[in-house]
Amino acid sequence: MTNAFTWIFVAALAAATGTRLWLARRQIRHVRAHRDAVPPTFAATIPLDAHQKAADYTVAKARFGVLDIVVGAALTLLLTLGGLIQAISDLGARWLDPAGLLHGTMLLLAVFLVQAAVSLPMSAYRTFVIEQRFGFNRMTVRLFVVDLVKHTLVGLALGVPLLVTVLWLMERAGEYWWLYVWLVWVGYSALMMMIYPAFILPLFNKFSPITEGELAARVGALLARTGFKSSGLYMMDGSKRSSHGNAFFTGFGAAKRIVLFDTLVSRLRPPEVEAVLAHELGHYKLHHIAKGMALTIGVSFAVLLILGQVIDKGWFYQGLGVATPGNAAALALFFLAMPEFLFFLHPLTSLYSRSREFEADAYAVHHAEAAELVKALVKLYHDNAATLTPDPLHSAFYDSHPPAATRIARLRTP
Ligand SMILES: [Zn+2]
Repeated sequence: MTNAFTWIFVAALAAATGTRLWLARRQIRHVRAHRDAVPPTFAATIPLDAHQKAADYTVAKARFGVLDIVVGAALTLLLTLGGLIQAISDLGARWLDPAGLLHGTMLLLAVFLVQAAVSLPMSAYRTFVIEQRFGFNRMTVRLFVVDLVKHTLVGLALGVPLLVTVLWLMERAGEYWWLYVWLVWVGYSALMMMIYPAFILPLFNKFSPITEGELAARVGALLARTGFKSSGLYMMDGSKRSSHGNAFFTGFGAAKRIVLFDTLVSRLRPPEVEAVLAHELGHYKLHHIAKGMALTIGVSFAVLLILGQVIDKGWFYQGLGVATPGNAAALALFFLAMPEFLFFLHPLTSLYSRSREFEADAYAVHHAEAAELVKALVKLYHDNAATLTPDPLHSAFYDSHPPAATRIARLRTP
């Protein structure tokens, strides 16, 4: 049961998997080759042992990433050409009407379950072996399990209604079902952005307002200078899971909250936090967030338009190992196969993202101190054991942020 599309899909999967493995190998070799010398830009600020730790951490993650790549490709093959989706569909059809919503929902949930069952041990290994070995893990087994249960329940509560709605529209909305699904998707995404900070995040973390002290004063002055409206500055207890630090915004309009990880607040001095926040503000002020949302909406339109064209074609199902066409099977096949075709767009999206990082840095330099941003970044590279010497091709392909040395050099240029 193969056709020309089977071979196009296999070729895309092989090319994408081969490229992923080749890039991983390049990254491992490059980082190892530069393990014994701190690059000149950081010679005065990063000690050799920290540089070597970063190299070992990067290599450990990349080596485990190889397993991830191979298992991911094998699972995609098993579900599609290996006939697992068809087998699950047949099994479900023993009890449920194969044309019904219940059968479709069951099929998609089963595919998610298979993927989760494979990724769970890998995620546990990453947390309790790799992150643990390099001193970043703060997660207990108990918290890992509690998180897993909460994520699953929240995912089901929010995901199943969407799934059923989409399947219902596919069944009943006629030729332009994909247009209605797109509208539902846009509305759903907007709803999620509103309820996520207010209802979902607090299930996993505690937020305490920062209202006093030098940090609050500096952030207040920065917000006034840049005309940024927010509903407050909060600290989040990220340290209960990991010692990696971060800062972000949540919410819409004047209800935006600024959230700092406690790990960030404890490591950076107030002027450094201010510079990091000025960078994040830059993303807002330069409309990066709004452009990103517009891009996602546009891409999801294109994706659904394509799905709308292939969904009634026999070659699409037969080519991907499914003998009995159906809406749920189409969704599963489409979202498994699509990433393999889109993989080679990665360098473009990464390039776009890196250019926005440079723009946000330029904004930060204008509204805060460049030297403080440099100090903050160096501390973050150091603390997070981020490699200072990535393979240039690996970095060009995947990295959303510019390589450390390039970024610092740009910040030091007046
Ligand atoms: Zn940024």
